[in-house]
Amino acid sequence: MIVSSSSIGITPARAFIRIFGGSREAPAGGNAYRTPGPPAPPMGRNRRGLALRRMEALVAQAAPRLRSEPALAERQAALAWRLCTATRTRMPYHLRMAFCRRCKSFIGYSARSRIRVGRGEVRATCLLCGHVRRKALPK
Ligand SMILES: [Zn+2]
Repeated sequence: MIVSSSSIGITPARAFIRIFGGSREAPAGGNAYRTPGPPAPPMGRNRRGLALRRMEALVAQAAPRLRSEPALAERQAALAWRLCTATRTRMPYHLRMAFCRRCKSFIGYSARSRIRVGRGEVRATCLLCGHVRRKALPK
């Protein structure tokens, strides 16, 4: 027998409880109606804005100390990189310059790269992999 909730004069939620008992909370094996995948990052709607500010601070601190405290600088750079990938935020150009484009190592702008200016361009050579990044100078 099919009983519609409107014909018995109660709300659908009440009908659910009357038929199946208990509450409508998720079953013990996990909520089957939730979208699959990892939980959202524990930040609000402005998580990209927060990520940008934190990346900025991390790279600003890591770059000058890459020579003196390489382990800490590497860790800060790794955190900055993870912030940008985990929140799918594009790293601004001035922060991207601190990483090698090919091997993605933290080169701290000039601590692990050789910077030469000439022939109308700036060349930054990564000292770890040898990749040369070129940027034309304005005329
Ligand atoms: Zn490199």
